[in-house]
Amino acid sequence: MKKHGPKDPVLLSSSLDVLAGIGGKRAAAFRDLGILTVEDLLRFLPRTYINRRELTPFGDLRDGMFASVLGTVKRVLTPGRDRLTIVLTDGRGELTLVWFIGRRYYSDKFVLGCRVSAWGRISVYNTVLQMAHPDVKILADGEEPEKGIFPIYVKPGELKDVCADSKVIGTAVRDALVRMREHLPESLPGTIIAKRGFPPLKEVYQRLHFPVEDSLEAVYALRDRLKYEEAFVIAFIMAGLRNKNKVSGSSFPIAGDCAATVLKNAGFAFTNAQKRVLREIEADLSAPERMNRLLQGDVGSGKTVVCAVAAARVLAIGAQVAFMAPTEILARQHFHELNRLYKGTGKRIELFVSGLSTQVRVGLDEDLAAGNIDLAVGTHALISESTVFKDLKLVIVDEQHRFGVLQRKALSRKGALPEILVVSATPIPRTLALTLYGDLSLSIIDELPPGRIPVKTYIVTNDKRAGMYGFVRVKIGKGGKAFFILPLVEESEKLNEVRSVIETAAHLSNTVFPDILVDIMHGKMASGEKDAAMARFASGACKILVSTTVVEVGVDVPDADVMVIEHPERFGLSQLHQLRGRIGRRQRESFCFLMAGKTCAPDAYERLVKFAATNDGFVIAELDFETRGAGQLSGVQQSGLGEFRFLNLVRDGKIIIEAREDVAETLARWETLDTGEKERLYASAACFGDLGKALLETA
Ligand code: ADP
Ligand code: MG
Repeated sequence: MKKHGPKDPVLLSSSLDVLAGIGGKRAAAFRDLGILTVEDLLRFLPRTYINRRELTPFGDLRDGMFASVLGTVKRVLTPGRDRLTIVLTDGRGELTLVWFIGRRYYSDKFVLGCRVSAWGRISVYNTVLQMAHPDVKILADGEEPEKGIFPIYVKPGELKDVCADSKVIGTAVRDALVRMREHLPESLPGTIIAKRGFPPLKEVYQRLHFPVEDSLEAVYALRDRLKYEEAFVIAFIMAGLRNKNKVSGSSFPIAGDCAATVLKNAGFAFTNAQKRVLREIEADLSAPERMNRLLQGDVGSGKTVVCAVAAARVLAIGAQVAFMAPTEILARQHFHELNRLYKGTGKRIELFVSGLSTQVRVGLDEDLAAGNIDLAVGTHALISESTVFKDLKLVIVDEQHRFGVLQRKALSRKGALPEILVVSATPIPRTLALTLYGDLSLSIIDELPPGRIPVKTYIVTNDKRAGMYGFVRVKIGKGGKAFFILPLVEESEKLNEVRSVIETAAHLSNTVFPDILVDIMHGKMASGEKDAAMARFASGACKILVSTTVVEVGVDVPDADVMVIEHPERFGLSQLHQLRGRIGRRQRESFCFLMAGKTCAPDAYERLVKFAATNDGFVIAELDFETRGAGQLSGVQQSGLGEFRFLNLVRDGKIIIEAREDVAETLARWETLDTGEKERLYASAACFGDLGKALLETA
């Protein structure tokens, strides 16, 4: 294909090799970075900038830093023929500039005593500070060093094979901007752009590539426009999903003997927070609109019983309820608890898990389809093809962080627009909740049942291990039970310093507690075995359960009052909080021991200290954010949200809230948008992975 002339206009969709300085090889190298077109290149923003206005004194130069300097030529050296070396001084220190390539070009340019401004990357070679192949300018008398903010696109070493440094990329970008006649596609409606006073996108990109601002902060602030755009699109998607959900639902009467029986069977009075969220849920249920609610509450705040009462409202009119849990252990536990709470109501509750025999399963499926089962409790098995409900009116999804938006949808498709209640014990900051669960209304239980004694958490070093064992023995002697939590099931070659369930259980039962029954629990066990182990631990036949994190979520064994966590640094803090939530569930004083051995790094130790000092799930979630970022958090990955390019879900709360407000405003006058604006907004939504697609689906 004939190459375009240098002055011809380029299209956003043109391939890169039409641009100045980009040939086939460089274009191929860019392709490996996912940059194929002119538009891709424009959106490939500098990873950082150099502010050449700020000159760094030689004394402050450090290995690896990019710097802009000013000095006088003190020596010109040509030790071998292979290089040109110039020594600069700034009156205090010295800096060596070296060239291996192009040395002839430079060799006669530097005269002793002339002033040189240079910028580049500092390296230390034999204790000498040097800059290889710097960008230099020899200054005339009285001339000031070049000012401004310059883009850095690539990391050292990146794209080196094709010699595409930041200068090469900058040249290509500049060429693209000059020859481009189109506007960059804009997601935002015109009124919003006007309201926020945003410059056109092309100008934003222009200024991000070639800043004219005074400070780096001002340049970074330009990115807010791009962050805002992402926040707007995601808020648009969430609002769309929320509106879709709003369509007709069912309306359930509030009164009911069934709910009264459940309340009586519970055997305790609701906390004020439980009462409040129950009222919120009941208001949803009695409204004709469909419920889509997230029930959040710290571990042990008593969410299950609230769900049971909510379910009773629906069961009372003869409709069906599905209660989905993320693990089999938890499904079984809910099954037992619901049986207790529903005693005397005459409602039939059945358990749907994967390990059932075909015969049993077929029978259950038939009964469910015929409407002979009222409340179906289960795992993912509930969303399998074969499961058909006769009249599914409420779906409860427990411990939501294991399920994504899309799985929620799969379950809700099993009924004709059932009401949806999502339950989560993962406390997350409000702005993050608004984004992640933007399609749901929010209820929060912010109070624990009375008399709970906060779990006492201690970090235990290896020399105190014997004392810890002694303590466990004393507690068991007084009717308690202990969990030991391990990161591995079996010993691993790769992680030979890390203890495992099998090894630890053997050691505890053979050596430390030969007189006490020790059981194990992990994900590789058959479901029957897990069930039996859980039952023995719950009944007290077994006093020590050595387990992986399968017990992390929701498991409720009231007398358990000690938890020993080995290698706690291998777990996230929110995960540790979930684990710790397995104890201290009655008025018993409970203890959590974090065994910080030699595999625990100092910064990890610091985090554990902070963790031990608080029982507040929200504080712990914040700590987790600080160290791991939102992307690592359970929930974000499964949310179907994909990766944000610019937006930071934790730090950009203000932008997220503004964008949400603007989306509401936009939707309120949707009719006034022109077709192009609507189409562009939907097109942007479609780029947002599965969630965007969910919005575009009709149905
Ligand atoms: P979570 O919110 O972690 O799911 P659960 O629903 O499992 O918590 O409740 C934790 C424990 O507290 C259970 O044993 C439950 O019976 C008990 N519980 C719940 N609500 C109350 C209450 N209002 N008063 C006393 N105990 C309660
Ligand atoms: Mg629970």
